[in-house]
Amino acid sequence: MLDDAGLRALREAARLSPENLPLRRHLAEQLLAGGYLSEAEAEYRAALRLAPGDPDIVAGLAEAFVRQSSHGAALSALEPFLAVPGYPPRLGVIAARALLGEGDTVGAAQRYRDAVSRDPAVSDPDLAVRLEPPQPVADVPAYAAPVSSGETRETGVEAVRSRVTFADVAGMDTVKEALRIKLLLPVQQPELFAAFGKRAGGGVMMYGPPGAGKTHLARAAAGELGASFIDVGLADILDMYIGSSERNLRATFNLARRNRPCVLFFDEVDALAARRADMRQAHNRQLVNQFLAELDGVDERANEGVLVLAATNAPWYVDAAFRRPGRFDQLVFVPPPDVAARAAILRILCRDKPLAEMDFDAVARATDQFAGADLKGVVDRAVEAKLQQSISAGRLVPLTTRDLLAAARDARPTAVREWLATARNYVLHANDSGAWDELTPWIKDIR
Ligand code: ADP
Repeated sequence: MLDDAGLRALREAARLSPENLPLRRHLAEQLLAGGYLSEAEAEYRAALRLAPGDPDIVAGLAEAFVRQSSHGAALSALEPFLAVPGYPPRLGVIAARALLGEGDTVGAAQRYRDAVSRDPAVSDPDLAVRLEPPQPVADVPAYAAPVSSGETRETGVEAVRSRVTFADVAGMDTVKEALRIKLLLPVQQPELFAAFGKRAGGGVMMYGPPGAGKTHLARAAAGELGASFIDVGLADILDMYIGSSERNLRATFNLARRNRPCVLFFDEVDALAARRADMRQAHNRQLVNQFLAELDGVDERANEGVLVLAATNAPWYVDAAFRRPGRFDQLVFVPPPDVAARAAILRILCRDKPLAEMDFDAVARATDQFAGADLKGVVDRAVEAKLQQSISAGRLVPLTTRDLLAAARDARPTAVREWLATARNYVLHANDSGAWDELTPWIKDIR
């Protein structure tokens, strides 16, 4: 990497000779290596004008975007290349980082695997750790590495250990209590349950606005119980392996049975459990029936020690058959956090960050209608800004209340309000069974 004087000379040379592609490309590389990200971005753009379609320049540009957390821009730059079979594997790895940055962990893992399978030299150990558990049982999400057993090879889901527990979930005392009784007590105190003629098993369906913490809670329930955790994004089963979905579903349940006690978590279950009448394709109906059969188990003990949790943002679309006794007979509302819960979430999210004085209550008051995921976005953005400042200042500049407030001001979370507006329609117009009574206090101020 060049020192400052070297960089200055290079900048000057490029200014005098703007059409010199090798020079501009070299300057861009040096800027990127030095961490001058926005300047590197500008140089790569200029170089790209001189050599449109050069994959190395696009790689540099995308890298500059990713390091500035502009993941969407990185993907737009890479897209035309990735659409072509046999694209340069190096671009695939950068795309995987951008996808991960956007929260598309499944897509990221797929992209990464594809790139590295074609050229192992492009592997990125840090990224691999974030995508693929290093050993069969690890505390990373289960989207990536297929387990070695042939039975589940195609599903891509895996049993992992969760290190988060209920202590990592702020607020939500009612929800935790409901999960504790349903999921944890039967396993922790089986005699008590047996005495009342209850058996473990069956499922709990959590519903609520996106980002309210349903996935986080499921993972924490597994950690609390010391159970293994299987996270099934339905994309895993539906999209990627069309044709053998039923087999994958069975394999997933069997994986859970082999790893008991186990929390088997189905995210966005409405994609699977949408009312069967709405389903035009017989194939989907078969899949639902298979899912219900697995839930019921071939005999009473089939799912012992397997705790099936599901999450949905749209509980009203879920087929009533899913809610019969022994299936998801319990619906648990995971509400958007109130002001105390928001302060608690912020405290947890900032736990391991360098902090100056911090008035979490003030930030909580300023973040009405923010879900947990929105608060995480606020903290991430504030930390990013602080990192830039620390790099310029050459020393660590801690996070302050003001930083969080500024990041919150720039955020426009809409998911909670929109979700409550939809929920309101169901509470007012489709609540004959009383299923949505729990939502009543939440929708009274929503128009
Ligand atoms: P959902 O599954 O409901 O869409 P997530 O569980 O993915 O939401 O929540 C997104 C992120 O927000 C979590 O990974 C976690 O960091 C944070 N979060 C949400 N709720 C809480 C909470 N109660 N306590 C701590 N962190 C939370």
